[in-house]
Amino acid sequence: MSLSTEVFAPLAVLGHDVQVPLASGEKVGYAALDYAASAPALQRVWDDVAAYAPYYGSVHRGAGYLSQLSTDLFEQSRRTVAEFLDLREGDQVVFTRATTDSLNLLAAAVPAGTRVFAFETEHHASLLPWAHAGLEVSYLRAPRSRAEAVAALEAALAGAPEGPKLLCVTGASNVTGELWPVAELTASAHRHGARVVLDAAQLAPHHRVSVRELDVDWIAFSGHKLYAPFGAGVLAGRADWLDAAEPYLAGGGATRTVARELDGSVAVQWHTGPARHEAGSPNVIGAYAIASACRALTEAGFDALEARERQLVERLTAGLAEIPQVKVLNLFGEGSARVGVLSFVVRDWNSSHFSAALSAEYGIGVRDGLFCAHPLVRTLLGEESGVAPGPVSVCGAPEPSLPGERSLNAIRVS
Ligand code: PLP
Repeated sequence: MSLSTEVFAPLAVLGHDVQVPLASGEKVGYAALDYAASAPALQRVWDDVAAYAPYYGSVHRGAGYLSQLSTDLFEQSRRTVAEFLDLREGDQVVFTRATTDSLNLLAAAVPAGTRVFAFETEHHASLLPWAHAGLEVSYLRAPRSRAEAVAALEAALAGAPEGPKLLCVTGASNVTGELWPVAELTASAHRHGARVVLDAAQLAPHHRVSVRELDVDWIAFSGHKLYAPFGAGVLAGRADWLDAAEPYLAGGGATRTVARELDGSVAVQWHTGPARHEAGSPNVIGAYAIASACRALTEAGFDALEARERQLVERLTAGLAEIPQVKVLNLFGEGSARVGVLSFVVRDWNSSHFSAALSAEYGIGVRDGLFCAHPLVRTLLGEESGVAPGPVSVCGAPEPSLPGERSLNAIRVS
């Protein structure tokens, strides 16, 4: 497919012609390079949301026209997401607030006694919910190649006690952008009777994802990283554990019947299916926006998007390689395959000073710090991370200063 303007027309991103003031007072076009954290809406998503917004109504709760319209759009959005992810027959799509919410929901639904396996290099959203939900977790040391990752998982699973097991793995790192060997890890997990949840927060905006082909059991992603920043995300996959679990939230919409018993107690029958974990009035605009973004990405075509992204990554890495003070961070070695996400350190520069200077002097927006993946960044910076994640500072809060180098994160998609 050609990389014509036509192909990318559905992918016009809002906010790209914003003029921002520099420290000098001059105004320049803003270069947004921190899409890994949050991407602005596609123009098309914004248009779809604006067209629907005046007709907003309650979902699953009313017989009136606007309620029916909203219910239809909400359920259609579910089907669009199922197609986008190439789900299997019987898989569920649950709308959540974002990836963090999706993985915490799954952690709450995992049968008691399940042992979870996670590389210490995970984003905190996929590293922390399991122990937080009271599950046993085996944290695997940072592998330095994809083959090492598969071998480490194989060894850990071979030595694991009998019982239900779950692997949580990221598709693409939010720090290095590197692709993880999801299909190989999943094959190994399934050989040992473990299920797999894929954190696709960074993968889904950049790559075609087929749950059927990857054979993962669940997948999670965030709308606001997929150009649909309206407060919604997705957990999709196998229904059995989700239907057997207590509802994530208790409230209206999740219940089939609620009855006052003679002894004064209240008996509840919960729904099965997505409604079980979607108590309360759902974020229909968020779900609709995700579906709109899924359609726009599918129409633009991931072959074209990936080809364009490879060009941009090559240009960026070639440019950075010419600056002797800059070192690009890679877990799996130089030149390893990545999505359009990249972090680097600049010798003798504190990263927050450097990113502030990029903003004030050039109008370039990047993220700095430890990127909600503290053990990974510490490994990349050559510090001893320890097997279990230690106390972590809150994502977005000022980071404790580290000696020496820290890192900058950049992403550019189109
Ligand atoms: N997983 C990865 C790989 C991420 O990059 C992020 C966010 O940066 C998350 C999970 C959490 O996503 P959210 O903050 O949308 O819940």
